[in-house]
Amino acid sequence: MLGARIKQGRVAAGLSLRELAQGVGVSAMAISKYERDQIKPSSEALLRLGSALGVRTEYFFRQPVIELTGVNFRKHAKLSPQDEAQALDDVREQLERWLELEAVIPSSWPKAFLLPKGLPAHVHAYEEIEAIADRMRAAWHLGTGPIANLIDRLEEGGIKVILTPHDGGKKFDGMVAIANGNTVIVVGESWPGDRQRFTLAHELGHLVLRGRLAEGLDEERACHRFASALLVPRQEAVRLLGASRSWVEPRELYMLKHEWGLSMNGWLYRALHLGILTKAAAKRHWEFFAQQGEGGTTWREQEPGKPYAKEYPLRFTQLVYRALAEEMIGESKAAELLGLTLVDLRLRRRMEAFDAPGCH
Ligand SMILES: [Zn+2]
Repeated sequence: MLGARIKQGRVAAGLSLRELAQGVGVSAMAISKYERDQIKPSSEALLRLGSALGVRTEYFFRQPVIELTGVNFRKHAKLSPQDEAQALDDVREQLERWLELEAVIPSSWPKAFLLPKGLPAHVHAYEEIEAIADRMRAAWHLGTGPIANLIDRLEEGGIKVILTPHDGGKKFDGMVAIANGNTVIVVGESWPGDRQRFTLAHELGHLVLRGRLAEGLDEERACHRFASALLVPRQEAVRLLGASRSWVEPRELYMLKHEWGLSMNGWLYRALHLGILTKAAAKRHWEFFAQQGEGGTTWREQEPGKPYAKEYPLRFTQLVYRALAEEMIGESKAAELLGLTLVDLRLRRRMEAFDAPGCH
């Protein structure tokens, strides 16, 4: 039990037996024996293990209860087995903290994800996905405008959103998983905001479209279509671009990107799918994009101008502070759940420490 947790922590930190041994000041053999529960680390060794692995010692005693099912790494994700193990371990660790919190808060606080009502049982053409995305928007009362904060929306809809830094250097976009009855979407942390939003919407597409696609429809393509339709409803795209165009100014695309949180390239695809641009016209834009750029990086690889701001999950942290305020947990539990020292938690409670958005 303890050994399995030490191993899990070591894998999550990406350390070899030898590297961890050096950090702790024991032999690699000792670490190996800890992991197989052949010897028990002293409390001092446990403290050093915790600091070498960047976890609090409570981590080693938490019950590993997470069973991840339905995990689908995106097809083009080329994570090495080690990166994949680290990403999954990180997700498990974050989920464990969620479940620990949920065990002490009223069940009315967290919500469960529900599919919108009245979805068609079968989808026969990519076109039909437009109406499904509209239903999703309606079920979540999103109206037809830009979605200001998609992570917040997903969390409000009962989906746990987890950002992981273990994305193998942008080799991994996202995945959706079911864990102990929780619906979870995981996204790599290093992507710019527009890419992150597209991935989130794409993964939501998997949840909504799974089992409905007729034979011959590609699920990845269908989820891309769902993502862009969710981010920009058809009638809005037509209103903003017009029903038919032969050229769209890059500056228009740039402004639309920042208004709607969909990349310039995503807008070109949207225009193509909706028949606003013909295939030939879309191709002219992509050829133009491939010729622009600086320092050998074209606009196809990196879009010009400011990147779209990233989003961060906030719900977990909010609920921890709420549980603290309502005396369902004490300070040391709150600190543990947030991965903070007690001193840092108290600074935050007194509003004397502020971090970048997304931290506590
Ligand atoms: Zn996918």
